[in-house]
Amino acid sequence: MIPENFEYTAAATLDQALGLIAQGAKPLAGGMSLIPMMKLRLATPDRLVDIGRLGELNYIREQGGAIHVGAGVTHFEVESSPLLRGKCPLLAETAAYIGDVQVRNMGTIGGSVAHADPSADYPAALQALEARIVLKGARSQRTVAAADFFEDAFVTALEPGEIVAEVIVPVEADGTGVSYQKMLQPASGFAIVGVAARVPRSGGRIAMVRIGVTGLANRSYRAIAAEKALEGKAGSASEIQNAAALVPEGVDANSDLHASAEYRRHLAVVYAARALAAALARTA
Ligand code: FAD
Repeated sequence: MIPENFEYTAAATLDQALGLIAQGAKPLAGGMSLIPMMKLRLATPDRLVDIGRLGELNYIREQGGAIHVGAGVTHFEVESSPLLRGKCPLLAETAAYIGDVQVRNMGTIGGSVAHADPSADYPAALQALEARIVLKGARSQRTVAAADFFEDAFVTALEPGEIVAEVIVPVEADGTGVSYQKMLQPASGFAIVGVAARVPRSGGRIAMVRIGVTGLANRSYRAIAAEKALEGKAGSASEIQNAAALVPEGVDANSDLHASAEYRRHLAVVYAARALAAALARTA
């Protein structure tokens, strides 16, 4: 299918892009979600501003005890960044699970986060990492916690005229065990359910654990009841299983042709247990 006609501007600077977006142009990054939607006429923007080539949004740097990832960084760059692999391996590991190599070479972290597909992979990791998302407009800048950013399926805290400029993730303490596990939809690779787990080493008892979930519901979330159930425990198989059983509790699970709500709930328990066991095994 061919999209409806649209005007296209390749922005030369971020300021130019933000000016055009303030006037109603839609940002185009990797085009991996927007272009298919335009071909299907699910999106019919009349003006696109290409932010995918802006150097100002393309960086991964350590600053003030955190890692700042520019919105224009591709999934492949996240997956292969030595800085992220060494100091925030959960984000790099999660990126490696996205789609296929063509999608990872074009798609960007900013585009994925802004698109907020309920089956996208990054949101699970960003919830577990308690990431912060920097939003920029022509004359504004604010930072929103991942927990507040993802509001519903394809709905975020972005206001008209704003873009996702940067994602901020923590530098992990030495010995933190992490894992992202997902049941993928075989044709696209999207998560039917995906669970990210993060357990800092604490010598014996689990002092803290973070669990992020995607795919189960309309929005990603942190499984706080499951986290609390594990805190203070040694992390035995039965303790992991009991905590994992709490992951889908109280969640309005999605149902579609790929998986019923009941099956998704079951998968959330299975994949949470796998992610927790793998993360704990890595707290060496
Ligand atoms: P675009 O498609 O360019 O834009 C997407 C939306 O975000 C548009 O509304 C656009 O206006 C807006 N936008 C883009 N950048 C910004 C920004 N910085 N600020 C504000 N708004 C912005 N994803 C997964 O998570 N897991 C998968 O397994 C997976 N498999 C895929 C398989 C296929 C075959 C395809 C085509 C896609 C798949 N995806 C998957 C989606 C992929 O990750 C996309 O890259 C991502 O959803 C969108 O990123 P993009 O840079 O391509 O954004």
